[in-house]
Amino acid sequence: MTTSPRPDPLQRLADEQARRAQAQLLRRVRTTEPGEGAAIVVDGRRLTSFASNDYLGLSRHPALVEALIRAARSDGVGAGAAHLLGGHRDEHARLEEALARWTGRERALLFSTGYMANIGAIAGLVGAGDLCVEDKLNHASLIDGARLAGCALKRYVHADAGSAARQLGTHPEAAALLATDGVFSMDGDVAPLRDLATLCRAQGATLMVDDAHGLGVLGAEGAGSVAEAALAQDDVPVLMGTLGKALGTFGAFVAGSAALIDGLVQTARSFIYTTAMPPALAAATCTAIDIARFEGWRRDRLVRLIAHFRHGADSRGIALMDSRTAIQPVPLRDSAAALAVSARLADAGFHVPAVRPPTVPRGQSRLRLTLSVSHTESDVERLLDALAVALERESHSSPNRLPEGED
Ligand SMILES: *Cc1c(COP(=O)(O)O)cnc(C)c1O
Repeated sequence: MTTSPRPDPLQRLADEQARRAQAQLLRRVRTTEPGEGAAIVVDGRRLTSFASNDYLGLSRHPALVEALIRAARSDGVGAGAAHLLGGHRDEHARLEEALARWTGRERALLFSTGYMANIGAIAGLVGAGDLCVEDKLNHASLIDGARLAGCALKRYVHADAGSAARQLGTHPEAAALLATDGVFSMDGDVAPLRDLATLCRAQGATLMVDDAHGLGVLGAEGAGSVAEAALAQDDVPVLMGTLGKALGTFGAFVAGSAALIDGLVQTARSFIYTTAMPPALAAATCTAIDIARFEGWRRDRLVRLIAHFRHGADSRGIALMDSRTAIQPVPLRDSAAALAVSARLADAGFHVPAVRPPTVPRGQSRLRLTLSVSHTESDVERLLDALAVALERESHSSPNRLPEGED
């Protein structure tokens, strides 16, 4: 018999759900099964996936699986406690050392996910009265980190160091962190890291780079976008990387000076108040690093596949975005077009998800297509043919099916 005038959060959620469905913006969790190579089974259909971040094809590598099993046999599955309360094992210590060595940093600190590494590092470094300046297209976890930190958050025009300089200038007295993706997760382009490093040096700001999509893929031995730009620890004092993408496992880290890492151990709440990642996962990741670093043929192959894809798209008149990485988005007119093209590709045997607002800005719906060493040249050729047909059909269908402003 409640007659409270209070809004009901669950009812509100249901109402919003209907509105999202109407605007073709509903997100749906699909259960998938991996197949051989780049194959994936989605809703009972066997498709060739162009959606994975497993760029080097390591997630199912027998050496990683073996390392995981061996470590689990001897140490069990769970770490049993947080790093500071007895959960930090030899495997974690070995992985932190390997990550520091690989990225050319003094030390590294493990986090359970990239999301947690970003919120922990940002809130551990800046707070009320401070400033965080971020690229407009930064990953959500970098934005959320600044929000949680309670500092002023200023966003700059994508990949525009001049715009970043103006935003830094709004709070000239405040301690400032400038955070950017190294490789942008939905666009595939690389941040102007050298310009940003110069700017930060000139303005006394601290540069933080999230290299989730650069680590393993760019730079000598796959050390990432920061290594490719030849920026040392002094230039990029806060380097964050994830283990769930090119390394094929799970988890994340922040690397930098001993002072940074010692400080984060005291201040990063998402490090302190959470269970350490399973040690067997850390063992498997050590194996992944060795393969990622020293099997350079994987990166060479990825580079060839990217060139093959871009050349093939060009010769078929398919417009792409300006990316030289494994992330090759295909821009579409709106959400409905992105969904329609994605559905046609599924009918043709390919899994290429549509990405819609709010993951990307309004009006920038797209297919987020990724390449990996698990693809063959023939996979790429067949995809390009199917894509050309699907886009051609879409161009003949009626535009503006959405209410004005929905996309
Ligand atoms: C995936 C991703 C993250 C989050 O990493 P998880 O380990 O998946 O939580 C953070 N930043 C960027 C740029 C990413 O692409």
